[in-house]
Amino acid sequence: MSKALSRQRTVRDSAIVLRTYDLGETDRIVLALTPSHALVHAVAKGVRRSSSKFGARLEPFMLVDLEFAPGKKLATVSQVVTLKAYTAPIMADYGAFTVASVLVELAEQLVRHETEAANQFRLLSGALAALAAGRISPFRILDSYALRSLHLAGWTMALGSCAESQEHGPLAYFSPEIGLLCRDCGRSNRYDRVKPVSAELPPYLSALAAGDWPLVGQVAPGSLSCEARGLIMDYVQWQLERPLKSLALLEKEV
Ligand SMILES: [Zn+2]
Repeated sequence: MSKALSRQRTVRDSAIVLRTYDLGETDRIVLALTPSHALVHAVAKGVRRSSSKFGARLEPFMLVDLEFAPGKKLATVSQVVTLKAYTAPIMADYGAFTVASVLVELAEQLVRHETEAANQFRLLSGALAALAAGRISPFRILDSYALRSLHLAGWTMALGSCAESQEHGPLAYFSPEIGLLCRDCGRSNRYDRVKPVSAELPPYLSALAAGDWPLVGQVAPGSLSCEARGLIMDYVQWQLERPLKSLALLEKEV
């Protein structure tokens, strides 16, 4: 194929590296989230040679400008330019690393349609930037990201009213099947694994979903933030119909 023809076939997009795995002696396969091409599986040839320019740019959590030739199963990376080097600051903090691992697994699961990819891309790059900056607790970033990414994927957790009856009365129960419920619906036995929630939980979840960090920051790490995380992660895994493997790495917030 002539150089001109092969040039025509490459496309460019911003990309967040979600995960990588080695192929053969020197190649690496990269799974990346892009705004315009959704998930891209691409092989980066020779990147594990010490002379490679691309290797360090294709690590998990990197935000790059990616040029690649689409292929039937695998695209082929032809150029990588670093936009934001989030990997080093995230890897330097074990809490940030474990949370980032959950974020990229969630993003991979939720991006099923290209129409959702641009918003999911923006949300994920914002969350990785916040993790790398280290000013907000990684656990709060995870909770907020999970609620917002589920919302983009069409699984919005109703926070202002009962998920069943739409009553605006106090939300007193939760089921991972549907979300927050009023007292009557919570006691109706219609849903699985219903449990009571504390009165402060719904407003705290609303603050997380809105990314209202001053309000979220007023809640000290402890029973309320643990309760919120447990509910959010139950809800996520119920909606995805699968466990998130990376959650096993997550430590308790201290
Ligand atoms: Zn209700």
